Amino acid sequence: MKPLDLPADVFRGDGAAVQAIAFPYRRSADQDAAAPAKHRIVIVGAGPVGLTLAIDLAQRGQPVLVLDNDHKLSIGSRALCFAKRTLEIWDRLGVGQPMVDKGVSWNVGRVFFHDEQVYQFDLLPESGHERPAFINLQQYYCEAYLVERALQLPGIEIRWHNTVKGIAPREDGATLTVGTPEGDYRLEAGWVIACDGSRSPMRGLMGLESKGRIFHDRFLIADVKMRAQFPAERWFWFDPPFHPNQSGLLHREPDDVWRIDFQLGWDADPEEEKKPEKILPRVQALLGPDAKFTLEWASVYTFACLRMDRFVHGRVIFAGDAAHGVSPFGARGANSGVQDADNLGLEARPRDPRAVARGAGRELRPGARIRGRREPPQLDALHRLHHAQERDQPVVPRPVLALAREHEFARRLVNSGRLSVPATLHGSALNTPDVDAFDGRMVLARRWPMRRCSAAMAAPRAAARVRSRLHADRLRRRAGLGSRIAGTVDTGGGPRPHRRPRPRRWPA
Ligand SMILES: Cc1cc2nc3c(=O)[nH]c(=O)nc-3n(C[C@H](O)[C@H](O)[C@H](O)COP(=O)(O)OP(=O)(O)OC[C@H]3O[C@@H](n4cnc5c(N)ncnc54)[C@H](O)[C@@H]3O)c2cc1C
Repeated sequence: MKPLDLPADVFRGDGAAVQAIAFPYRRSADQDAAAPAKHRIVIVGAGPVGLTLAIDLAQRGQPVLVLDNDHKLSIGSRALCFAKRTLEIWDRLGVGQPMVDKGVSWNVGRVFFHDEQVYQFDLLPESGHERPAFINLQQYYCEAYLVERALQLPGIEIRWHNTVKGIAPREDGATLTVGTPEGDYRLEAGWVIACDGSRSPMRGLMGLESKGRIFHDRFLIADVKMRAQFPAERWFWFDPPFHPNQSGLLHREPDDVWRIDFQLGWDADPEEEKKPEKILPRVQALLGPDAKFTLEWASVYTFACLRMDRFVHGRVIFAGDAAHGVSPFGARGANSGVQDADNLGLEARPRDPRAVARGAGRELRPGARIRGRREPPQLDALHRLHHAQERDQPVVPRPVLALAREHEFARRLVNSGRLSVPATLHGSALNTPDVDAFDGRMVLARRWPMRRCSAAMAAPRAAARVRSRLHADRLRRRAGLGSRIAGTVDTGGGPRPHRRPRPRRWPA
């Protein structure tokens, strides 16, 4: 699809306009080719994860074909909270700023029991950060900005109304059968990245499964439009007076829209609960009798925590919801999927495409050691997290809530949704083991690599040479042969640090 296929500024409309965007189907030359056309990397699915990966790969000089069975952005109320780490990745991809400009930034959450605040937390207590802890932004806006960016990059082709219907994996790639409104065609892919969502037809086509647990509870989402004075914070209630014996969650979204989640219980009838006559009194009870609002969207959802045993199957790699599904509480779905994409993009450097499998495969090594953060929602880490997430419902014993009012330690026992945190890629081929003390004097000496790198940004070939020199030097240092690049990092003669800063920005 080419940018000219769409009117200018179509992505900058309001919520209704953006959800109404219909991407045109275009016949591709591949459909008339005598033999299946060859593509190095094919991404199945133009959701947030597939689009993020496509942009990342294209920015690294890797041409990529994206196939999507639909021709629209996400509709209605899905992902809402996008975390700082995700924004940092999108900043690198040139798409963070419009999202932050449009989104509602927040750092503070409050937890209530009945109508009393138990405690509050600040996810970003320090000042000076470029990005907030979270922004709230409707998923369709997020996807709109990603598609808009993707269309600016010559290396990306997106084919809408192209449904992957069959796959024949081989050692060196796979043959895909693609269905279109004008019939089926086949193409060859060197790599297939399946970002086709939680139901993942690709999993089915490959005879693979996602295992885990479906939770026996139902939640109502009611998005209402109103002018309200609530601050831009996350408010979570246990057993509130307006919705007894259940939980409730309130988030502010752009365009004066507020997302309210009401826990309903497993026995609730989803069709009944979606009726305005059932929803409006619930919302009115929360907002007060004088509040004026209109209902924008309502849906009832259940959730499951599911994951595949392995995400890498030869030349077919699963990412995002296709690989692992988590509860919407805590906003980890798209946030963890974007980090999958970041990981895959990082590993798929032009000079060593096999690193995709090597890197991701290492992530999945059963014995891989996971260190650091509480919940690294990344490829391998999700394996470990699975059992933790099975307890993912926001439930908590009442005495704990009472204790949490006064005592910090008890707050850690309160689960009002485990919020997304950055992943740590300990299995990545780009990391070296932490075998000695990191006590060298880190002094940035002559600016050789950065200056040359930035000069090289203008010339991809020169950039590739610089990258390859840096890589060769990294290998030399790892092998204990010392550095040939003078002045990258001066360790002051102390023990050599194994983790070195490396240029993060590759040429666009
Ligand atoms: C109520 C709710 C609230 C949520 N809130 C949050 C939140 O606040 N923060 C957060 O991070 N996450 C949240 N999530 C999760 C988030 O929506 C998902 O994690 C995210 O959409 C996953 O992105 P994806 O790209 O992996 O898959 P998807 O967004 O599902 O995209 C998959 C794409 O693949 C395409 N496709 C499917 N089959 C084929 C095929 N055979 N051929 C070609 N294309 C195909 C589909 O059309 C689709 O475009 C929420 C989810 C729900 C339901």
